[in-house]
Amino acid sequence: MKQLQEKILTEGKVLSESVLKVDSFLNHQIDPALMQAIGEEFASRFADEGITKILTIESSGIAPAVMAGLVLGVPVVFARKRKSLTLVDDLYTASVHSFTKNETNDISVSKAFIGSEDVVLVMDDFLANGQAALGLVDIVEQADAALSGIGIVIEKGFQTGGNLLRGRGIRVESLAIVSSLEHGKVEFLEEEMV
Ligand code: 5GP
Repeated sequence: MKQLQEKILTEGKVLSESVLKVDSFLNHQIDPALMQAIGEEFASRFADEGITKILTIESSGIAPAVMAGLVLGVPVVFARKRKSLTLVDDLYTASVHSFTKNETNDISVSKAFIGSEDVVLVMDDFLANGQAALGLVDIVEQADAALSGIGIVIEKGFQTGGNLLRGRGIRVESLAIVSSLEHGKVEFLEEEMV
């Protein structure tokens, strides 16, 4: 998605050879117009899938997921990273190792919001080693729901997540695929530039 790639090139900060900071439009401050375009792009890519629900993870997955949910006309559920006091029973939980924080946390979703009748689109802001996405897929499986695919805003194609998920036969749609962050420079997979 050209508009997203241009935003990454102008505002993204390469923190290391494996971490990209995009807190001016996605991870801290949010660009609503860009999020709307992102939501429309996901909605058109998954238009024919009969999606009934989007599942993402707090906090940075929520903005793009809400925009896609608005266009698809379906509710958006976000997995919580901490169990809330009002959500003690009837939870699906999965363990997720965080790439950026190097710690493992449980994520949880109330059983009230995903069930066997659902066709779920999993979404997240970044795909690195695929652990967050796998945790969400685990929850879809616990719910006996159907997984339509995974929508990712920025995939780092040089890390293992994309292959791991696609290798399981899961459809992964990434709006920008970063092929390298070497020498402080963001490069995209060729096919994504057209
Ligand atoms: P994974 O679970 O695929 O290893 O990592 C994905 C999660 O880690 C995303 O939810 C995202 O929050 C975070 N993440 C991974 N890599 C990056 C990165 O380069 N930049 C930012 N801002 N977040 C990242």
